[in-house]
Amino acid sequence: MKVNKKPHLFMLFLWYFYDFFVVFVVFRLLFVYNGIMKKISMDLHTHTAASGHATHDTITDLARAASKAGLLTLGISDHGPATPLACDASYFRGLKLAPKLRYGVKMLYGAELNIISSEGGVDLEDSVLRELDYAFISFHIPTFTPLTKEGNTDAMIAAMDHPNVRFLGHPDDSRFPLDYERLLNAAKAHNICPEINNVSLAPGAYRVNCHENCCTILKICRKLSLPVLLSSDSHGSAHVGDVSYAEDLIEGMGFPDELILNRA
Ligand SMILES: [Zn+2]
Ligand SMILES: [Zn+2]
Repeated sequence: MKVNKKPHLFMLFLWYFYDFFVVFVVFRLLFVYNGIMKKISMDLHTHTAASGHATHDTITDLARAASKAGLLTLGISDHGPATPLACDASYFRGLKLAPKLRYGVKMLYGAELNIISSEGGVDLEDSVLRELDYAFISFHIPTFTPLTKEGNTDAMIAAMDHPNVRFLGHPDDSRFPLDYERLLNAAKAHNICPEINNVSLAPGAYRVNCHENCCTILKICRKLSLPVLLSSDSHGSAHVGDVSYAEDLIEGMGFPDELILNRA
């Protein structure tokens, strides 16, 4: 009996189609997986209209942008009341009433505190800070007059004692020189992480010498096994989740993934 072993042309076509489809799907999954791995899962340094400058966007606008950017968590960290035109303490007190989930994104509500005195004073009372999810402590002009390197370092270390302080805001600006060894050792002891701030590393940044300072910070963090936070410092929704310059630096230095607090 003769058996026809020639496959039907149509079956051959289906087989090739299936083959290409499988290869396409595998490559697509690898691409997506790689994309997810490189992405951050949360952006905790963002500003709304409540900061009093650079944007009229609301918390809702930022949450929508975070959802589009694929973030799992968004933190709102408006400037403290000492920043000209920023909101007063009542805005921060009210944040405990705000929704914990918007557009499928987990919401955290914090503040970017101004360090306002050489003794580490900040511009929200401890009773308000206790109600927030977290806080950054930062030096800004005009709310702090730069001291010596030792004086700035003393002030920032003293500010670490306020409740819910979790992050050092852009500690990368040579307008406020810092003793990084001493600062980061104190941060580790307080369970506080420095941020690698995307605005600081963007071309034309107004903060000074940030690239070199971030390299120093990363080297010390690696030595101390102290995690860093990548953050956008987005004023408004436009740059929520964008930490591209920070990621370039991290990759360039071969900084370990496991020390990046917000990598997915
Ligand atoms: Zn600002
Ligand atoms: Zn700031």
